[in-house]
Amino acid sequence: MSTEVKRVFTALAVLLLVALTATGTATAADGDAPSAGQRIANALRTSPVYVDEAYATAVPPSRQRQLADRIRRTGLPIKVVLMPLTRGDAFDGDSDVLAATVRDRLPQRPDLVLITSDSDFPDSLRGYEWPADTHQTRKAVAAAGFLDETRDAGLADLTAKAVDLVAEGKGEQRWEEATKDLASPRERAERASGGTGEWLWPLIGVPALALTVLATRAALLRSRRPSPPVSELVFATARAADEAQVRRRAEAEVLALGEAARAADVATTPGLQQALDAYAAAGRVLDEARGLPDLAGALALAQEGRDALSGSSGLPLCFFNPLHGRSALRTGWRPLGRRDRLDVAVCRTCADALRDRRAPEVLTDTDQDGRTVPYFEVPAGRSAWAATGYGSLATPSAGLGGVR
Ligand SMILES: [Zn+2]
Repeated sequence: MSTEVKRVFTALAVLLLVALTATGTATAADGDAPSAGQRIANALRTSPVYVDEAYATAVPPSRQRQLADRIRRTGLPIKVVLMPLTRGDAFDGDSDVLAATVRDRLPQRPDLVLITSDSDFPDSLRGYEWPADTHQTRKAVAAAGFLDETRDAGLADLTAKAVDLVAEGKGEQRWEEATKDLASPRERAERASGGTGEWLWPLIGVPALALTVLATRAALLRSRRPSPPVSELVFATARAADEAQVRRRAEAEVLALGEAARAADVATTPGLQQALDAYAAAGRVLDEARGLPDLAGALALAQEGRDALSGSSGLPLCFFNPLHGRSALRTGWRPLGRRDRLDVAVCRTCADALRDRRAPEVLTDTDQDGRTVPYFEVPAGRSAWAATGYGSLATPSAGLGGVR
């Protein structure tokens, strides 16, 4: 796990402690995030737009006022924080920390949409909202950067577009539309294959699309140099992109769990301790994650924590591939070479595959001989995920006791 993420966990852990001990006075987090966060929060009381001096030329006061008017017209609780983020600064150069800190310092209200500078990509924006996904903010803000009209737009115009898209409330659809082009016209794919980082980031969060583009890209690469075999290349590249995307998602889920646990009322949340345990375990798993199976484990733990908080006992993630998301039903399944049937929770697609006697698409892992096998075929003593089936056979956190 990256240093920044570790620090986010540290900061969140501290925040959690503060919340739980109810001291109220946050002397807390690393660095001077609280005071910097407080300064921004104070500024946001008078205008929904905060622009750091470093961006005063790109977004001058007149544009700030226009943005503020635009936001007011939406009637939504949107706030904008534009500032350069650099490792070692008050937020450790991480927009997640910035967002969480600012939100914490704002007068508490149930809903908030925050559009901030993106720490990973300069001149880009990132969207946050509480409660999660009410306005499809994350995708809406991400989509804003991928429209033809914003290709050469300055920060002010980009922010205005992001506000519009959040207000429109169709972020998912806009994102699909904005990034679809990246995969289809060959000319774009070619342009995309020229750079390394820049073209990849819009694909984070859209693995299927990523695969399409990667396939195109791999084909282009093949035309230039003969090795390695394209199928391997596609597989390896897709897997790397997949892993980065899943890691990011897992980090976001775990952070969200921390947020939710922090916001939970100790008196009325009997599952709080279990949630905190799952949160701590998920942080450790992320910290030591060596690949997709571990990252999926962090997702499963985050899910366990969320369920503990809400007191719901929803089905766990899909047994065959937890990256499929939460299961739709439980079903009996007999593993190859075994007599007994296992009771496993599966997603709709995997259920359909089983019904049609097709093999479900399984998450693979590496066994002790270095072979790639379905993760559940790794001996349970060596893998918490094989032992628990990511929640189908035992709670994910229960599996960690024995193995780690
Ligand atoms: Zn599935």
